[in-house]
Amino acid sequence: MNDITVAIIGGGPAGLSAARVLAENQVSCLLLDEQASLGGQIYRGIEHVSQQYAGRAEKLGADYLHGLALTQGLPEKHLQRVLNAKVWSVNTSGQIVYSVGAQSYQVKAKYVVLATGAQERPFAFPGWTLPGVMTAGAAQILLKAHGVAVKNSVLIGNGPLLYLLASQLLAFGHPPQAIVETQAKNAWKNALPHLPNAMLYGSSYLWKGIKMLALIKKAGIQHYTKACDIHAIGVESLQQIRFQQGGKTHTLNTQNALIHQGVIPNTQISRALNLQHFWSEQQQTWLPVTHQSGESSLENIYIAGDGASIGGATVARFSGEQVALQLLKKMGVFTQTQYNSRARPLNKQLRVELAVRPFLDYRYAPDNRTMLNNSSTLVCRCEEVSVGQLREHARQGCLGLNQTKTFSRCGMGPCQGRQCGVNAALVLADERKLSPDKIDYYRIRPVIKPVTLAEVASLAKEETN
Ligand SMILES: Cc1cc2nc3c(=O)[nH]c(=O)nc-3n(C[C@H](O)[C@H](O)[C@H](O)COP(=O)(O)OP(=O)(O)OC[C@H]3O[C@@H](n4cnc5c(N)ncnc54)[C@H](O)[C@@H]3O)c2cc1C
Repeated sequence: MNDITVAIIGGGPAGLSAARVLAENQVSCLLLDEQASLGGQIYRGIEHVSQQYAGRAEKLGADYLHGLALTQGLPEKHLQRVLNAKVWSVNTSGQIVYSVGAQSYQVKAKYVVLATGAQERPFAFPGWTLPGVMTAGAAQILLKAHGVAVKNSVLIGNGPLLYLLASQLLAFGHPPQAIVETQAKNAWKNALPHLPNAMLYGSSYLWKGIKMLALIKKAGIQHYTKACDIHAIGVESLQQIRFQQGGKTHTLNTQNALIHQGVIPNTQISRALNLQHFWSEQQQTWLPVTHQSGESSLENIYIAGDGASIGGATVARFSGEQVALQLLKKMGVFTQTQYNSRARPLNKQLRVELAVRPFLDYRYAPDNRTMLNNSSTLVCRCEEVSVGQLREHARQGCLGLNQTKTFSRCGMGPCQGRQCGVNAALVLADERKLSPDKIDYYRIRPVIKPVTLAEVASLAKEETN
C-alpha cells in the first residue's frame, strides 16, 4: 500500500483548486476521480470538448468555458492524478480503496479531502420511474459529453439549473416544448428577507437568472409557474405529463421529461466515515458538519465544495483553496502570517459569493407536496417502495430509515440510498409529524460504489505485488 500526504477525492472545481494550491507548495497529493476527464459536474469533459468539438463549449455557455482555466496548467511535479478511479472505500485512518477498470488499489493518506460534489435531489412523483423521464443533469451530461440534445422535452421542477438547461437546449437548436415550474409553499415569503443581501452582493447571479428567463420567454417556450400535482403518464414509457396550474388541469404530450429539484451534497463517503451531519432547514437536506476551513468532525478528513454545502462552482473553487491553505498551515508549510495573507482575502470573497445562497435556497426550495400527497409514488425506485408503504411502516413503529430498510428493503438497492434517502426521511417525518432532523439516516457502509467481486478480489493481487 502506498503512503501519501494528501488524497483528494473528486476532480471538480473544489478538488482541482485544492490540488493546485497543495502541489504548488510542494505537498505531494493524489487526485482521484471516477470520470474520464477532470472538471467535475459543471465543467464535465471541458478539455476534450473545447479541443475536439468546435462550437459545443460555446453553446454550453460562458460559465462552462471558465473550466479551462481550472483544468489546464496543473502542476505536474507533486500531483498525481488518476482518472476513471472509482473510490469505493475510505476509512477513518485515511485508507482509501479505489478501482480503475477491474483492478483495485489501496493507498493510505495522512489527510483526505472529500471533494465529491453534489447529486441532483431526487424528485419523486407518480410516474417518475417511467422510461422517458430522466433528470435535467442527465440531459446535461448528454449535451456536454456527447453533444446530444434531448428533443421536444418538457422540463419539470425548479431551480436555476432548469433555466440553464432550457437555454442550453435552445442553443443546440432543440428548445424544450415547455417548462413546468413547481414552487414550494411560502417559497417567496421565506426568500424575500434575503433578497436585499442577494442584490447587494450576488447581483451577477440574479442577472444571469433574469437573462435566462428573458431568453426563454423570447424563444416562445411555454412556461407554467406554480404547477403542482405532477403526474408522468404512460404504459411502457412516458406519453404525457399532467399537472395542475392556475386552477386547471393541463396535459402535455411528450416522450421526454427532464426533471430537477436542485442539488444536494453527495454524502455517501462522509456518511460511511460516520462523520457528524445535521439537517439544514435552508438547504432542506443533511450536510456534514464542517468548520470554517473545511475540517470535518474527524481531524484528518476535510470536505470542500458542494459536498460540504451547496454553494455553486465559484464557492467550490474557493473552498478547495481554503482547505488547502488550512492543510499547509497544519503541516507547517505555511507560517501563520503566510496563511493569514492568503486566507483572509479568500474568506472575504467566499462570504460575498455565499451572500446569494439563502435567497436561492429558499426561493427554489423543493416542493414535496406531490410526493407526500400521492401514496402510490415510488420513493425507492430500486426496490419499488412507495410513500404509502413507508407511511404504513411508520405507523407500525419504524422510527428511522434503518428500520424501514429492514422491513421494506427501501435503500437496499444498487443506488444505496442515494435516490431515496432524503425523500424517505421526509415521508417518515411527515407521517410522524416531526422535523426530518429527528429521523435517523441510513447507516452507509463501504462498498460505496457498485464493484464486481473481481475488483474486490484484485486487492489481494495488489497486496502481493
Ligand atoms: C448533474 C449536475 C449538473 C450540474 N451542472 C451544473 C452546471 O451546468 N452549471 C453550474 O453552475 N452548476 C452545475 N451543477 C452544480 C455544480 O456541480 C457545482 O456547483 C460544482 O460543480 C461543485 O463543484 P465540486 O468540486 O464541489 O463538485 P463536482 O464538480 O461535482 O465534482 C465532484 C467530483 O467528484 C467525483 N466523485 C464523486 N464521488 C466519487 C467517488 N466515489 N470516486 C471517485 N470520484 C468521485 C465526481 O466524479 C466529480 O467529478 C451541476 C450539478 C449536478 C449534480
